[in-house]
Amino acid sequence: MRIPNPAPSSFTLKWRSALAAFALALAGCSSTAVSTAGPAQYPKNIIILFADGAASTQWDFGRYSSKVLRQQPFVTTDVVFKEGALGLLNTQPSNAYVVDSAASASAMSTGHKVNNFVVAITPDGKSVPTAMEVAKARGKRIGLVTTATVYDATPAAFSLHAGTRDDSQGLVDQYLALEPDVLMGGGADYFLPAGTPGGKRKDGKDVIAAFRAKGYQVVRSTAELKSAAGAKLLGLFADDDMDFELDRDSGKEPTTAEMAAAAMRALSQQSPNGFVLLVENENVDTAGHNNDVASLMRALWAFDDAVRVALEFQRRNPDTLLIVTGDHETGGFSPTYAAKDLSSLSRKNRFYSGDEHVRMLEPITMSLSKARETLGRKPSGEALDQLLARHFPGFTLDADLRELILKQRTVERSFSYITPNALGRMVARQTGYYWGTSGHTTEPSVVGAIGPGAELFRGYQDNTDFGKHLHRLITGK
Ligand SMILES: [Zn+2]
Repeated sequence: MRIPNPAPSSFTLKWRSALAAFALALAGCSSTAVSTAGPAQYPKNIIILFADGAASTQWDFGRYSSKVLRQQPFVTTDVVFKEGALGLLNTQPSNAYVVDSAASASAMSTGHKVNNFVVAITPDGKSVPTAMEVAKARGKRIGLVTTATVYDATPAAFSLHAGTRDDSQGLVDQYLALEPDVLMGGGADYFLPAGTPGGKRKDGKDVIAAFRAKGYQVVRSTAELKSAAGAKLLGLFADDDMDFELDRDSGKEPTTAEMAAAAMRALSQQSPNGFVLLVENENVDTAGHNNDVASLMRALWAFDDAVRVALEFQRRNPDTLLIVTGDHETGGFSPTYAAKDLSSLSRKNRFYSGDEHVRMLEPITMSLSKARETLGRKPSGEALDQLLARHFPGFTLDADLRELILKQRTVERSFSYITPNALGRMVARQTGYYWGTSGHTTEPSVVGAIGPGAELFRGYQDNTDFGKHLHRLITGK
């Protein structure tokens, strides 16, 4: 049952009216047996917004924290999931129950299961066509945007092939051959030769120069991105991964939304057959690995700002299919109730995480990645105290967690990142934002879709079904 909002914001009203026609169109078509029935219409453009490591708990936390702290709707849940077609994906790879990002994105890009850490090659050694290869072959323009390195597992598996996701230099070479019209993110290191600033390539090649020679406009900062007018764009904003929102230098590194907007601008030029664009926020996953709820919150907001930009594009271009999804859950994220301390486990000594707890996240001014980097491998007690006082106001580090950090010891085999995981537990004890692991879990991924073909994604499906639908929608078959 949907309870009407007594005072819908003008934003909500705007989207409601914009999407009314779409809802009517959906009501008219049968949505059962979606895997076998063809879509009612084929989209010209497809925009996939992808939050690595996000499943339903993360999405709902985005909604909740955005409402309490930003006083604004979280469009992923409040528009795309609510008004569009909604589905779940099981994420199991070929060779395990728990998936990594390469295997998951490979399934979603190719429609085939692969082993963990493999990029779009099946266990019998076949390179199966990726979504971007298929799109390119159909004359569509293609774009890949990420806050990770551009050769990271997700963008790689949507376009390329490799026996292992760690073949960074080989993946960059494949990008040069594939020529995606837009390629943006971090990872300048494997575009530049070792010995030059930030360069790591072992063959002495300058691949940035090679892209420029193929007619690409190359942008290296936020200002350059904003003034970019080219139809083919290479944007490299960091040597390695781009920074967390909490640590980001806005002059150097653009937001996910700024990159998404620039990608749509570039891809809609000279585009008679439309385009396929993947926009990934990787910081959602990295924050999960670190058990860093403050960074997770800001990464989800940054991602949602990009969804908002894509929804605006979709509204102006209704022949566009917009998909919001993720590949797996990261961190076993568990907002919960807990005892205030160990003096008593009775209900009287318990708190239920609520508004005053999420408000405690707002004054945090450093990611747990940056905290680890700042403290180094042998943290001193003094440096730790100073860092906490400055960047984590209101938080107290208990003696047991302090010892873990100073001695660099973990308490459990499923927690691999000592300093971030211990500081994550410090935050959890005072806010109720607990975590079950520093790894991935099997919670199904969520898919929300709006636009032509959206109904294919409805219901509980396998992540390979996502890939099959994508191929069908791209090829029009
Ligand atoms: Zn991950």
